[in-house]
Amino acid sequence: MAGILTAIKLRESGITDFTVYEKADRFGGTWRENTYPGLSCDVPSHLYCYSFALNPGWSHVLSPGPEILAYFESVADRYGVAEHTRFGDEVVRCEFADGRWHLTTASGLEDEVDVVIAATGVLHHPRYPDIEGFDTFGGAVFHSARWDHSVSLRGVRLGVVGTGSTAVQIVAAVTDETAHLSLFQRTAQWIMPAPNPAYSDEELASFREPGALEKLHAELSELFDLFSGAVVDIHSSGFRFIEEACLKNLEENVHDPELRERLRPTYRAACKRLIVSEGFYDAIQRPHAELVTDAIERIEPGGVRTADGRLHELDVLVLATGFKVDAFVRPIAVTGRGGVRLDDAWAKRPEAYLAISVPEFPNFFMLNGPNGPVGNFSLIEVAELQLGYIMQLVDRLGPGGCREISATADALARFEAERIEATKNTVWSTGCNSWYLDDRGIPAAWPWPFKRFRQEMVAPDWEAYELIG
Ligand code: NAP
Repeated sequence: MAGILTAIKLRESGITDFTVYEKADRFGGTWRENTYPGLSCDVPSHLYCYSFALNPGWSHVLSPGPEILAYFESVADRYGVAEHTRFGDEVVRCEFADGRWHLTTASGLEDEVDVVIAATGVLHHPRYPDIEGFDTFGGAVFHSARWDHSVSLRGVRLGVVGTGSTAVQIVAAVTDETAHLSLFQRTAQWIMPAPNPAYSDEELASFREPGALEKLHAELSELFDLFSGAVVDIHSSGFRFIEEACLKNLEENVHDPELRERLRPTYRAACKRLIVSEGFYDAIQRPHAELVTDAIERIEPGGVRTADGRLHELDVLVLATGFKVDAFVRPIAVTGRGGVRLDDAWAKRPEAYLAISVPEFPNFFMLNGPNGPVGNFSLIEVAELQLGYIMQLVDRLGPGGCREISATADALARFEAERIEATKNTVWSTGCNSWYLDDRGIPAAWPWPFKRFRQEMVAPDWEAYELIG
């Protein structure tokens, strides 16, 4: 998503000498990697799209994954991004030497460039749980982001580990075709209800009216501004609205009181990434579906053994256990000025000024980098704003400008201190465990309303940057 965006915007600004490196053999990022049943985006499609390539054809408010993949591929095609792209070759090394970046790919190709823009995504590397006995399982076992489509779920006894956004989408989609579904829940989740009917022909026609899509995009963007304002202020009325909607969903739509209590979270709504689902509660209440809340002890040839001693017999086991969230551009070996390695700069944890620039890594800019707006946002809107800002940094480079730009260590330290202080008021700090939290338990996220992010992205504060040459 962010790489396609960058290519389009570079060309638009007259920069044509660039290469997009894509390790896979097609575009699509997360929508190419994730192919699990039920895959969809819980950010409305009319917001989850490029602002310059609005799409009147979305089938649903929250459209399915394959449709989103097709959208990205069609935009890339329309703008000729493939002409600039080297597919099927992974960048393994980026070294800053003699004022330029030296890139090496897995195939041994070497390239020398002035600027690197890392559009390498956020939730990319699967996290496998540390559970004993995986290799002994007699059936099929795979991570949700590595779905094995050769395995049919029809009539099988299926186990799903995890209750994040991914697991909830899978359970809502596949329960009916299985003979038995066991959902292994370590922590209950708040679920925001979201009816998601297909758009009617009239609605689809209305999206083709002049200005209609722009208006819808702007309205949704404003709605998400309100949401971001609510989660960073737990005393706000917006936050109360979210909590009440989730609670009402649980109370009204889970009928068995015992199951309802086991599905009831013990922390504030949206503390973990808020889940949006139309069908999860229905699916988990099917007679052949079971919510397992006893801890997993180990995996055995016949299934999953829980702490109460019971063996849950399974044919297929899906690990919807999330991602390594602090990798960002890694495992690419990035070395900045003076031989400083990104792995060392980030030895404690990843940090970047405004999520974009790392001191001593000149002319190296990230899209959707560490501690930026993540969560229930359109990452496309985030990337568009960041790219507009990065283009201003790039503009300063070259004749009449300077040779090297990177954030100063001071600017990063000030930004981090302020950011950490602000996280104390956010819902992510109210006492749950989530992938937003870093190794210290501090939310690795943008703790201010989205409108502040918009303001920051309007123009760089040049005092925060070291400009050399
Ligand atoms: P996730 O939110 O990190 O959830 C992982 C789940 O696995 C959690 O329920 C976790 O339990 C459980 N788990 C991990 N290790 C376990 C273990 N050893 N034993 C038992 N349970 C274990 O991962 P995800 O669902 O893939 O979602 C990741 C993110 O991707 C989302 O938060 C969202 O940002 C994004 N996403 C977005 C959409 C969308 O529609 N926009 C859809 C899917 C994903 P605990 O809660 O106890 O840790």
